[in-house]
Amino acid sequence: MSEILVLVEHVEGEVKKVTLELLTLARSLGTPAAVWAGPGITAEAKAKLAEYGADKIYVAGSSDLADYVVAPKAELLAQLVSGKSPAAVLVAATAEGKEIAGRLAIKTDSGVITDAVGLGEGFVADQSIFGGGVNVHSKVRKGTPIVAVRPNSTAPVAAAGAGTEEEVPVTLSDAAKTARVVERVKQEKGARPELTEAAIVVSGGRGVGSAENFSVIEGLADALGAAVGASRAATDAGWYPHQFQVGQTGKTVSPQLYIAAGISGAIQHRAGMQTAKTIVAINKDPEAPIFELADYGVVGDLHQVVPQLTEEVDKRK
Ligand SMILES: Cc1cc2nc3c(=O)[nH]c(=O)nc-3n(C[C@H](O)[C@H](O)[C@H](O)COP(=O)(O)OP(=O)(O)OC[C@H]3O[C@@H](n4cnc5c(N)ncnc54)[C@H](O)[C@@H]3O)c2cc1C
Repeated sequence: MSEILVLVEHVEGEVKKVTLELLTLARSLGTPAAVWAGPGITAEAKAKLAEYGADKIYVAGSSDLADYVVAPKAELLAQLVSGKSPAAVLVAATAEGKEIAGRLAIKTDSGVITDAVGLGEGFVADQSIFGGGVNVHSKVRKGTPIVAVRPNSTAPVAAAGAGTEEEVPVTLSDAAKTARVVERVKQEKGARPELTEAAIVVSGGRGVGSAENFSVIEGLADALGAAVGASRAATDAGWYPHQFQVGQTGKTVSPQLYIAAGISGAIQHRAGMQTAKTIVAINKDPEAPIFELADYGVVGDLHQVVPQLTEEVDKRK
């Protein structure tokens, strides 16, 4: 079967979950080959990539791949595309991943699909567009299909691959070295998972009522090991930081489970969450539009429902 390149997302030597999802997806379409860009690959990282099906691990360990912004990674992939003729290239649909995908498409004269939420036979991608109102099936018709897949689109499933390592020497152009990374500042992060990567997201909206009341949402999130999200009404009111806003002008999430509490379900909010696998809505208004979208709905006051839910979840631990 043809090789499918998967660009590895890694932080401090650790492989991010989205890469395991991409390897799982690649396995259903061909032979996955992981591409590690930058120094610092560890034995654990290699073992993880092999555990999730990487047949090959291409390692380009040059520090140039970490020291310059984005462009070198696109050049690395372009060199692999021309040298290995893969059937497709998969990257995570993160801000960086999408930029790499775009640059790679130009360099290889190929088509690119971003924000895919699924990828099937013949590399036909599923996309959710127009604020999530329309589902589209798209296919690259020119060159090597380059597909940026949203985190959480596939559940990662282990299935061992050979994990054969191959060093890749990279020759970077001067153009790829025009923007250098001068500093990395670690974002203060609590124990909760990253919003766009979390398998479960619990979001609160205007119905939460105040900044203090967001502790109710946080309590359920912590019981479930989930990330906390918020509607724009809640972030604009200053009840929760803007970086947690879900929606058209916030983050796009695609978790296995999305719990919306006190959120009406405006189109701009839906745009950021409606590809979630299972949606649960808690709202006191039975006519709230969020119920049209929800798989499960609870009509009730979130201040009563959410603490009870948290208690039940805690009991089962
Ligand atoms: C260009 C543009 C971009 C936008 N981008 C975004 C975006 O990225 N994300 C986003 O979220 N919005 C976005 N919006 C705003 C969006 O249109 C809505 O105004 C917003 O999503 C509403 O937030 P909400 O559902 O929390 O509030 P509301 O619409 O006010 O709904 C609150 C809900 O809470 C329920 N409720 C109240 N009290 C309780 C209670 N005690 N228990 C249970 N339920 C209760 C009510 O019944 C109601 O359904 C954007 C708007 C524009 C114009």
